[in-house]
Amino acid sequence: MTNDDFQPVSGFDVPRFAGIPTFMRLPMVAADSAARADVGIGLIGVPWDGGTTNRPGARHGPRQLRDLSTMIRAVHPATGVNPFKANNCADLGDAPVNPADVTDALERVTAFYQAVHADNIIPLTAGGDHLVSLPILRALGRKPPLAMIHYDAHTDLFDDYFGGFKYTHGTPFRRAIEEGLLDPAKVVQIGIRGTMYDGEDIAWGRERGVRIIMIDELMDRGHQAVMEEARGIVGDHPTYVSFDIDFIDPSFAPGTGTPEIGGPSTYEAQRLVRGLYGLNLVGADMVEVSPPFDASGGTAWVGVSIMFELLCALASRKS
Ligand code: MN
Ligand code: MN
Repeated sequence: MTNDDFQPVSGFDVPRFAGIPTFMRLPMVAADSAARADVGIGLIGVPWDGGTTNRPGARHGPRQLRDLSTMIRAVHPATGVNPFKANNCADLGDAPVNPADVTDALERVTAFYQAVHADNIIPLTAGGDHLVSLPILRALGRKPPLAMIHYDAHTDLFDDYFGGFKYTHGTPFRRAIEEGLLDPAKVVQIGIRGTMYDGEDIAWGRERGVRIIMIDELMDRGHQAVMEEARGIVGDHPTYVSFDIDFIDPSFAPGTGTPEIGGPSTYEAQRLVRGLYGLNLVGADMVEVSPPFDASGGTAWVGVSIMFELLCALASRKS
């Protein structure tokens, strides 16, 4: 199949509100389809929020994000990138999940992404809560451990919840570092803020070399200086990108489980993601949009707009 077979449906041809919504109006390519061999970047939903410790609902994210993503057009207005020309992109559907069993869900998601990885497809994921990053990293990481640039109000480096339970959306990157999936000296976390438990997560990360950029440092230094530093830390190393929608100020993106005030605007977030162009990127995710807390659909719109920025960065990667 050629690149012509992987183009989104244009709003010039079919109105955006019509038809069955796939991510960005791309063709849907099933796991057993012959077309899968020609896919370069796969957009994937993980409709699962079994790692949520507080307000749930991110399991409904992929469906609403697909709906809102029909408003995305093909060409980036500032950089001129058309990710759908640069790579064959397709909607690979949703990873299989189990809403009633955390361990089983993580195993199912890992197996799905192992198959994606084996087919040399770069995954761009829509969550789901932030624990979904762990099974994705289990499929992508370890040989060698990956670098990561992580946008979030929270470190997600906590050890356990509720008396020793190790797998929640507050723990994925501590587990990923412990499991050797991430090289902590090549992990950059940007935008951390909000009231704290005791700061143990931040201390644990810093002891292992994680570069944690709190919100005040980001806002004082600006997106350009911070991304220059982040690029220097990850260098040419294979790098994963994780974007929690709660990175953005809740005045722009209230539809999420753990909002924290005093965050960047949507514009600042866009400029930060554009700072990823040209890195050796191996995948990205955008997580924690919770439609039950997103009455207007505005947070899902922010989420898919960030997904388009991430897609353009993946399409502009150094490989
Ligand atoms: Mn967060
Ligand atoms: Mn998070």
